[in-house]
Amino acid sequence: MLVGRTPVEVAAEAADHGPWSLAAASASIGVVLSREQHDRFTRYRRLLLAWNDRFNLTAVTDPIEVERRLFLDALRMVPALDDAIRRWGSGADSIALADVGSGAGFPGLALKIVRPALQVTLIEATGKKVAFLQSAIEDLRLDEAVAVHGRAEDIGRDPAYRARFEMVTARAVAALPALLELCVPLLRVGGRALLPKGTDLDDELRAGHRAAPVLGARIDGAVALPGSGTRLVTVTKTGDTPARYPRRPGIPAKEPLGGTPVGPGGRR
Ligand code: SAH
Repeated sequence: MLVGRTPVEVAAEAADHGPWSLAAASASIGVVLSREQHDRFTRYRRLLLAWNDRFNLTAVTDPIEVERRLFLDALRMVPALDDAIRRWGSGADSIALADVGSGAGFPGLALKIVRPALQVTLIEATGKKVAFLQSAIEDLRLDEAVAVHGRAEDIGRDPAYRARFEMVTARAVAALPALLELCVPLLRVGGRALLPKGTDLDDELRAGHRAAPVLGARIDGAVALPGSGTRLVTVTKTGDTPARYPRRPGIPAKEPLGGTPVGPGGRR
């Protein structure tokens, strides 16, 4: 019945039963969702669109686009994530992942839904987004997931977070040299960053290759993810990050390591 329901709720309902299915699309890239995981994605989508009516959390407003462009895009990272988890062996239960500039939870919260054993810390500078993330974590009943309000430049200097994570992700936050300065300090030596980027990446990669060793890291490669315009940049931390990094908030983007800034904000 339509009475008393908002257009967003109606559209969300249609997406539940429409021809496009997150479960099928996800299975086709090798990520089979359990019933519980699928239900969590449905709740997440509804919550995101409901909050988006009031706060501008994401430019994606269509329910199917949320599944395609936000959920599925995050799920495409799962094979690389599983590979990184395997490298830590059977201690997979204690693997900590930080998602820098998480926004409405991408990819960090989506990855937590599908790999619930991860301990996930979502780092986000904007208060209203942190409020959403906290609400989503509660609503989805996710254990060992927290949202932290702050700038990665500050959090990366805090002993509670610096060099505490086996894995870091970040999507659409900054160009690669700046992004490395935000992410690498959070990693333990031997840990890995997985950074989804657009395909037009050559200049960023060149600068990234110069920036990485300054921070005690190495760019392993940039692999095209099947069925999307995304390349996943994989980074390994090879040694301790010098104490002077990350620099003060804003400096990593303004004076990027390894050369000149790349484009406006380096968005994907
Ligand atoms: N990763 C999400 C959001 C991308 S928008 C996605 O892919 O949809 C970039 C987000 O990063 C914004 O929410 C912004 O507030 C946050 N951000 C930018 N610089 C940051 C910093 N230095 N520390 C923490 N968060 C930052």
